[in-house]
Amino acid sequence: MNSQLIMQIFEECPLIYRRTADGAETIVLRRGVECGDGWFEHIHQLSLSIESIAQHLQREGMPICMLPQVSQVKEKFGDLCVYLEKSAAGVAEVVDLARQRAAKTCELCGQPGKKRITSSEWVIVLCDNCADLN
Ligand SMILES: [Zn+2]
Repeated sequence: MNSQLIMQIFEECPLIYRRTADGAETIVLRRGVECGDGWFEHIHQLSLSIESIAQHLQREGMPICMLPQVSQVKEKFGDLCVYLEKSAAGVAEVVDLARQRAAKTCELCGQPGKKRITSSEWVIVLCDNCADLN
């Protein structure tokens, strides 16, 4: 994903995209969001929802090291995969919803799409237009 889009997500969601307790970068902080720009909206919404859960828990007094933390976001076999170092009530549902939406969204351009197998045997969600070009 384009680094400007990734920076937007990190800046808006500093709790869940934080470093580890010993100051190391998580995989997502090192590598960025490992999928196409077409899924930006779903990952943005997912991040804002989990950040809001984290903010709520923090207001209730939970220490920062216990708050939900995203460690990796990637595409794998056409699915959106979100790995968490720490989770919390409600987070799994948010991730599930984003995964269902991404499965029907072209990973390249964000238009409605479906899973396809490319000539090089990759499974990827594409719209008709992008499928013709790839
Ligand atoms: Zn497309």
